[in-house]
Amino acid sequence: MEKQKQKSAAVVGGGLVGAMNTCYLSSRGFKVDLYEARPDIRTMEIVRGRSINLALSYRGRQALKKVGLEDQVVQDGIPMYARMIHDLNGTLRPIPYGKSDQYIMSVDRRKLNETLLTAAEERPDVTLHFQHKLVSCDLEKGKLTFKIEPANGDDSLDQTYQRNGGEDVHVEVTTDLIMGNDGAYSAIRKHMVKRPRFNYSQEYIPHGYMELTVPPHNGEFAMAINYLHIWPRNEYMMIALPNQDKSFTLTLFMPFDMFEQLKTGDDVVKFFMEKFPDSVPLIGEESLKETYFRLPPLPLVSVKCFPYHVSDKAVIMGDAAHAMVPFYGQGMNCGFEDCLVFDEIMEKLDSDLSKVLPEYSMYRSPDAHAINDLAMYNYIEMRKSVNSRWFLMRKKVDAFLHAIMPRVFIPLYTMVSFTRIRYHVVINKAKKQDVLVDNSIQALMALAAVGGGYFTAVAISRHLDSIPGWLRDSVWGFLRGDFAV
Ligand code: FAD
Repeated sequence: MEKQKQKSAAVVGGGLVGAMNTCYLSSRGFKVDLYEARPDIRTMEIVRGRSINLALSYRGRQALKKVGLEDQVVQDGIPMYARMIHDLNGTLRPIPYGKSDQYIMSVDRRKLNETLLTAAEERPDVTLHFQHKLVSCDLEKGKLTFKIEPANGDDSLDQTYQRNGGEDVHVEVTTDLIMGNDGAYSAIRKHMVKRPRFNYSQEYIPHGYMELTVPPHNGEFAMAINYLHIWPRNEYMMIALPNQDKSFTLTLFMPFDMFEQLKTGDDVVKFFMEKFPDSVPLIGEESLKETYFRLPPLPLVSVKCFPYHVSDKAVIMGDAAHAMVPFYGQGMNCGFEDCLVFDEIMEKLDSDLSKVLPEYSMYRSPDAHAINDLAMYNYIEMRKSVNSRWFLMRKKVDAFLHAIMPRVFIPLYTMVSFTRIRYHVVINKAKKQDVLVDNSIQALMALAAVGGGYFTAVAISRHLDSIPGWLRDSVWGFLRGDFAV
């Protein structure tokens, strides 16, 4: 029998999703080349970029598990069993994420990315190319052009430049499959946008984010460790996740115009003293003043598009396909699940790319759109709803119903973070459950009112003779409507 030619794949982007996809594609027998614009983060002293730590949950863990990395990643993570709400008056209120054994996990972004890159590099037929920035492509033909980015200290690349007389150096490759994992501002997606019948929308929310640090105090965590701390202030909020070095990374989410109003170090301290008073001694006034002005706040974008593929040649995943606001802690988890879903479809369709790519677009897009919407919704829940009594009562009712009917009733957060129920099914199921709970609460209230009325009437009738005649007549008159206006 004739041996099948080994297929090649070019993964564009060596972030979390690109590095994971490289592992998956190698296990499916592809020859994989990964191209990343930045230098190798494993050799860098400081890596600039987005959030320092991330919340890993079930979907991400399942994807890590299938490539044999779950245990390695989880051993360095810190479980968070509940939100810890910091009220303005300093009161602390834990709100569990689920049952007592359910938790999300704080993991270090850089370490996770390094683990994935090393795992990818160790797989058969994988080559990693750093400082290769995609500048153009022909998606139909599987052709890609990369510009080699100069980097201080990399002798081989510096020599390449010198040989080229200081001109840009470009590399062209042709491949069977282009895997676009180049993040929220994806160059591959920009090429897809130019194609006919490609749907695309993006939205910047008015809020930006900025990271601050709570260092260890006397060598220990300065706040309770196994929580995701939240300071919800309705229009804005701050959160904190624990790190392995016993520090916390704080993220302040606030409208850009509020960031801009704080012009001096004293303005910043005053604002924090008023709005997040218990955090100031933990951060330290000097550190707060210094860190606030070190970097500008960063924007948050939400992207939806369809389809995710071009013929049998190119597909986008992760933030490239569905960047989302970070309030459900699902961007990476969803991106990791993309890799798992793609692999499951490859298995089902015998790695026939002409069938796999369209099937992936059709199957995955309703779920990606759904989690984008849920992430937007959760921003309101995190900064505002957690302050409301109704919300807290709902959480208790949800937990109770889940305890007595674990398969039938599953709270929204549990479905998103602790199961692999498809995101769009999660939304539909949550809507039905909301109706059920609201109706049940209303029915209970009506029952309580009727029951209360009945027992009051019985009690009155028993003591009817002891009620003065004029009062009895007035009440009956009132009930008959004699006093209606
Ligand atoms: P990225 O991580 O952005 O990686 C893309 C890679 O492509 C980068 O390395 C980039 O250098 C490279 N690249 C870009 N352009 C090119 C090019 N032209 N050529 C070659 N390479 C290129 N998610 C969670 O699940 N849990 C959380 O708790 C969470 N918290 C978050 C907090 C914040 C503040 C933010 C902003 C996001 C958070 N996310 C979280 C979302 C998560 O960060 C992203 O969903 C995840 O990083 C997406 O991974 P990716 O590989 O698709 O993209």
